[in-house]
Amino acid sequence: MKSAYDVVVVGAGPGGSTAARFAAELGLDVLLLEKRQEIGAPVRCAEGIGTQVLRRFIEPDPKWVAQVINSCRIYAPNGKYIRLEAPGEGLILERKIFDRRLAELAAEKGATVRCKARVTGVLQEGETVTGVTVNAMGQEHRIHAQIVIAADGVESQVARWAGLNTMVKLAEMDVAAQYLVSGIRLEEPDACWFYVGRAYAPGGYAWVFPKRENLANIGLGITPLHTIKTGETALDVLNRFMAKHFPDASIVSMVVGGIPIDGKTRPISKSGLMVVGDAAHQADPMTGGGIANAMIAGQIAAQVAAKALRNGDVSAEALKEYDRRWHKEVGRAFKPLKQIVEEVIEYPDEFFNELADQLHDRPRLNLVDVFKIALRASPRLMWSLGQLVAMGWF
Ligand SMILES: Cc1cc2nc3c(=O)[nH]c(=O)nc-3n(C[C@H](O)[C@H](O)[C@H](O)COP(=O)(O)OP(=O)(O)OC[C@H]3O[C@@H](n4cnc5c(N)ncnc54)[C@H](O)[C@@H]3O)c2cc1C
Repeated sequence: MKSAYDVVVVGAGPGGSTAARFAAELGLDVLLLEKRQEIGAPVRCAEGIGTQVLRRFIEPDPKWVAQVINSCRIYAPNGKYIRLEAPGEGLILERKIFDRRLAELAAEKGATVRCKARVTGVLQEGETVTGVTVNAMGQEHRIHAQIVIAADGVESQVARWAGLNTMVKLAEMDVAAQYLVSGIRLEEPDACWFYVGRAYAPGGYAWVFPKRENLANIGLGITPLHTIKTGETALDVLNRFMAKHFPDASIVSMVVGGIPIDGKTRPISKSGLMVVGDAAHQADPMTGGGIANAMIAGQIAAQVAAKALRNGDVSAEALKEYDRRWHKEVGRAFKPLKQIVEEVIEYPDEFFNELADQLHDRPRLNLVDVFKIALRASPRLMWSLGQLVAMGWF
């Protein structure tokens, strides 16, 4: 490692590696630092992503695509499901391989990548971030950078060290628990299954994301308020779900984690610093999906960094362009999405049961059909859905 770079990126998840890749491609001298000794491991994700959005960054490759998804089942508490056709629209990744491939791509474009390199603090001159301190393989380094991109995930500290308020209230988190399970037999290994209603996951939903016929990520996200009220954790709820639906599954690995889904707009840059991905709370407040959003934000941050360095201006005002572009491209949808979630989690289980009763035997449904029917049942969704339609979501 040198002692100075144009850009230092902290964290080699999808957000950081994408930022490093595009910054290097735009001619910047880039260092990508990852604290783990193996990029991509351990996996803390259900590994689902939309095919179309992924293709903006990389062509799907069987080396890191575990399963192509052609349909979804949405289960109501009464056990009936609605089937949505979505041929080829989703992918279940092997994130261990995918994340490493993204870091390799950054290196191929000219970035320097270092694993087992933990950032321990930020260097600042006045209000401007000017670099980071790093412990790399046991040695301390001070590395200067014109711009630091903090892509250090949900437990991000870099932004906080630099004085940005990234705190989220407990009630605005989703707490997720997931098992990678083997020894099951899935009827349709090319379908994602979602379970909605309080009976399954209070304040959230449960999922089965198949990786092969007998291997799947099975998990759920709940509101932490449920734990405060009842003492039951996300893992307890998942164990209950597994005992009922997959009693014979073997658990190969597990993950428990928080996903910030407050959907609020907050500053994600300051002089010399931009914050990307989960560190900036950019996961979708409806689904909790954050891989694609982290990559989109990483690309925007790289482009804004290149422009700022070309103009010799890394001031807070210059980097604000990152906040504006993120908001315009993705962030502005968060408010209506969050409102839909807040509305829907209040519905009683009977609502989903009735919807499933009406629709379970209808062939060739898609998401728009379901939204239309939900809108008839609950006109209060009109405003939020209208906002999303105006943004070209459907
Ligand atoms: C149970 C669960 C299931 C999920 N399922 C999905 C899903 O199916 N689809 C989806 O799109 N999203 C899903 N998500 C969310 C998704 O995993 C994240 O949104 C995504 O990984 C965000 O990418 P990122 O690059 O911002 O952060 P991360 O992928 O978390 O990467 C951050 C990196 O920074 C490194 N780092 C942290 N601190 C430092 C430091 N001080 N120095 C150096 N490196 C550091 C970390 O080791 C890590 O590698 C899920 C999350 C959970 C918890």
